Amino acid sequence: MANTQATLEKIVSLCKRRGFVFPAADIYGGINGLYDFGHLGYLMKENIKNSWKKSIQNDLGDIFFLDGTLIGPHAMWEASGHISNFHDPMIDCMNCKKRFRTDDDNINTEKSCPSCGIKAWTNIRDFNLMFQTQLGAVADESAQAYLRPETAQTIFVQFKNIWSTSRTKLPFGVAQIGKAFRNEITPKQFLFRMREFEQMELEWFCKDETSMDMFNFWVQKRQEFYKSIGINMNHIRMYQHPKEKLSHYSKCTFDVEYEFPFGFKELEGIAHRGTFDLTQHTKFSGKDLAVFDQETAKSETPVVVESSVGVERLFLTLLFDAYHEDVMDNETRIVLKLHPKIAPIKAAVLPLVKKISAPAEDLYKELKKQFINIDFDESGSIGKRYRRQDEIGTPICFTIDFQTIEDQTITVRIRDTAAQERIKISQAATYLSKIIS
Ligand code: ATP
Repeated sequence: MANTQATLEKIVSLCKRRGFVFPAADIYGGINGLYDFGHLGYLMKENIKNSWKKSIQNDLGDIFFLDGTLIGPHAMWEASGHISNFHDPMIDCMNCKKRFRTDDDNINTEKSCPSCGIKAWTNIRDFNLMFQTQLGAVADESAQAYLRPETAQTIFVQFKNIWSTSRTKLPFGVAQIGKAFRNEITPKQFLFRMREFEQMELEWFCKDETSMDMFNFWVQKRQEFYKSIGINMNHIRMYQHPKEKLSHYSKCTFDVEYEFPFGFKELEGIAHRGTFDLTQHTKFSGKDLAVFDQETAKSETPVVVESSVGVERLFLTLLFDAYHEDVMDNETRIVLKLHPKIAPIKAAVLPLVKKISAPAEDLYKELKKQFINIDFDESGSIGKRYRRQDEIGTPICFTIDFQTIEDQTITVRIRDTAAQERIKISQAATYLSKIIS
């Protein structure tokens, strides 16, 4: 029997075939760990980001947004600990010159190289994952800078500016969606481990005495987010870091893990980071990042609860979760059962035959005024056109047929069940709004 499960190969192929994701610089052979997002990929990423922005709104405190720089000075990364600690253990095969992470499940340095079968390892070295660059023409130490490996640090270094301009009080959050760069030794599993990716990070600043409650609040709320975007929660598990694996400053850390075909892997990290980040930047910059509490008339350094998830890792998760194959009209159908909030195209307008394209075009133009991501397709059999939309996850199709000319009704065809119903053409926009809200 054919394998109908989602596999990495099927997802990669679908992404390229339908214009979600292309290897970067594809005509030059691609670059490992770098990808460009096509029209559908772009739209889907925007939907993910918008859902995330909504999901962090809450009743406990304000959320402010930041759009920080991608390049940061040496001193900033020294303070954050990235210069000394942000590395992975690396080993090379001297025979085939392949490079590996020694903490990779597939690597056993007691055995031979999994690529060439010869045992000729170098020593294990630490490899810093940050991309280093030089600002300006003078190559001295003061010009040394790095592409950020996470968005969080730009939030911490702007903490005082945000605090003093926002007129807020603890607790509050600063959120950022933006690029991060990591020179991963072995980028793999498509969008799972990339060298350039986007993160959605929330740094929640609160008082020490309430910080564990706040932590638990966010652990709960982040799970609600995954449910709200349609992820099958049977594939999600919460992994609590054991005490001995916790960073020295963290009171508690959970990973939200998703069950990929290659095992349960981290999708998001949620960490109680204590006062570590603000204290470090205070120490290294000489600027006091404590805040004055009117109630207690004391200065205090807020505790940080962080949640951090990669846009593309979530994108990949959503594709795996939504991918289904079934048989329809004796043909295998690939369908992405994406939540309508996430689906890149919200609806397609299809004239049954080209002869009646005019009313279909009118409906398409009308819907485009309200929803930007609407598709129009008049080529090929109607069955084939439904399949094309199923494969990219379009929740509904509006079909214009001969009856439309007579009574101004259209067929609504539902992606997941292929069920059909008739509605008035004038109800199409309202129908669609309800489905995607
Ligand atoms: P991993 O152990 O999987 O490398 P990490 O613990 O280094 O992850 P964090 O530093 O906690 O990851 O980053 C927060 C989130 O950013 C991760 O949960 C993941 O969603 C995303 N992320 C991190 N590294 C990458 C990467 N190389 N490619 C894509 N997404 C990433």
